[in-house]
Parts: sequence; structure tokens; C-alpha cells
Amino acid sequence: MRGLRKEYGGLAAVAGIDLDIEWGETFALLGPNGAGKSTTVEILEGYRHRTAGDVTVLGVDPAHAKLDWKSRLGIVLQSSGESGQYTVREQLSHFARFYPNPRRVDDVIAAVGLEKQAKTRISRLSGGQQRRVDVALAIIGRPELLFLDEPTTGFDPEARREFWSLIEELKTEGTTILLTTHYLDEAARLGDRGGVILGGRLVAVGRIDELGGAEARVPLVRWRDDDGALREERTERPAELVVELARRFAGEPRELEVIRPNLEDVYLALVHAAGSAAGAGAANGEPASNPVHSSSPVHASNPEKEAEPA
Ligand code: ADP
Repeated sequence: MRGLRKEYGGLAAVAGIDLDIEWGETFALLGPNGAGKSTTVEILEGYRHRTAGDVTVLGVDPAHAKLDWKSRLGIVLQSSGESGQYTVREQLSHFARFYPNPRRVDDVIAAVGLEKQAKTRISRLSGGQQRRVDVALAIIGRPELLFLDEPTTGFDPEARREFWSLIEELKTEGTTILLTTHYLDEAARLGDRGGVILGGRLVAVGRIDELGGAEARVPLVRWRDDDGALREERTERPAELVVELARRFAGEPRELEVIRPNLEDVYLALVHAAGSAAGAGAANGEPASNPVHSSSPVHASNPEKEAEPA
């Protein structure tokens, strides 16, 4: 996409995005609610018309795409529409017929781990199982490009891990994947590259393990001083600082931690930096902060925190 823009009544929900997603890669699109992710994704899927800019998806402009193009996509929407009276196998067999070169229904059922539920009505499945039906329906047509919109919301930890394995298999098969998620651990696990959207602009893009720039990834050493205060220092050479601290304290410093900023830390730092740079502007489509490849210091870091929806 080049200069992608979408306005709703004069308000820019997407305010000029340039982005290339390569064949075969998994790209994680990150950003807080209202940032413009869904609008962007829906334009790529051909569900929404853009106000300006150029977009090509699998070599075709989605605004003028035909059915044969749609059959090359797989889409897992945010909320499941599958609660029908049909069994898992009936539903999949039905939809498989719409595609020129579908996968075998039983293979897909096995891939999403629903063998035991193949003859169960979808309305009787648990939420997590219904989500797997969504994924099964999205991959039955052997898509070249798979859109996953917050695919594991509401999953228990085990189901999430199983789901990730399934996606990793699709990656190995060469499927291109565009993932939007609020779970930063999910983005880190599945994504090859990622981008952060804030206020309709892409404020960072790059390999997941480099997102935010090198500066944002400098390790943090934290310890508790004799006066009871928690101290921290960012350093490229944490081992040297730890040795120095051990000497200073004549032993083990209290509550010593060496923290390597993870994707969540980097993401939160980007969001905070953009928030302070643009104030309320970031929320209404005004320029957020620095353009692509911005880097900013990590303000807070806690390796023990849960990966919660941002
Ligand atoms: P995200 O997916 O990142 O949560 P969205 O793309 O849904 O963000 O929304 C971006 C902005 O566009 C928000 O301010 C939202 O309120 C606005 N918006 C989304 N859809 C519409 C619509 N159909 N009409 C008017 N405003 C919309």
C-alpha cells in the first residue's frame, strides 16, 4: 500500500500508510483500539473502500477484485459467525465446494484438532472450538493470504498454544499471514515482521525482534539499594554492571534483575512516546509522532507481567 488513506466524515482513520508485506511472511499489525488496524485490514480484504492511495493485494486492487481473487484469501474475522445447526464436517464440506482447489475436509479437521467433534453441531461447541471452525473455514480453500483478526481472544493458554502450532504449520507451507492481535507474546511468537499503527499512521515497522530500534532494546539492570530505593540502569553490558554491583554490595544485590525489553515493553514505549508527543491528536487521526523506524527509550519494564490485551 502506498499513501493509504481512509476518512470518515473528514476524520482520518487511516492517515497515509506505506507498507509492503512480502510473500510468505507473517506480518503482525499492532496498535491500540481505534488506531486504524481494522480499517486498514478491511480495505486490503476488499470490504471497505479507501479514500486515497494505492493498494495491491496478490497483484490485484481489492477495490476492483473479482471472485477468483477472493478465493485466494482466507479470512478469520474478529467474532465468530459460526453457531449453526450443521456439524463441523458438513459445514466444511459445504464451503470447500466454493473453492477451485480446496484442502481435504478431513485434513483440515485434523489440522485444527477437531477430529472428535467432526460430527458435532457447531452450536454445541465451546467458544474455543468454534474459533477453530472459523480457522478451518478460512484455510479450507488453501488461501495464499490469510487474515487473522485477533484470532485467539478468549482462548485458554493451552488452546492458544495449539492454535499457534497450527499457524506455524501454515507458515511452513508458505501461507502469507496478516495478523492483528493485542497479545504481544502472540505477535512475537508468530510474526516475522510487524508494524505499530497509532492514530492512523505507521509509527514503527520492522522485524519483530528489532521493532522500535536498537535503543529501545537496551537491557535494564534493576536492584534494590541499601536505602530501600529501587534503582535501575540501562546498559549494553549488563554483566559488567552486575559484577560491579556484586562488588559494591559485597555479595548479591537485593532483588537483582537483568531485563531484556520484550515486544510488549517496546510497544508500550512507542505508544507512550506517541501519546506524549501528540497529546489527544494521536487519537483523532492527526500525526502521531515520528515516522517509520522511530525508536524511544523504554520507560517501564516488568518481565513478570502477564501479556494482557493492550
Ligand atoms: P482499530 O481496528 O485499530 O481498533 P478502527 O480501524 O476500527 O481501529 O478505527 C479507526 C478509527 O476510525 C476509530 O476512530 C473509529 O472510531 C473510526 N471508525 C471506524 N469505522 C468507522 C465507521 N464505519 N464510521 C465512522 N468512523 C469509523
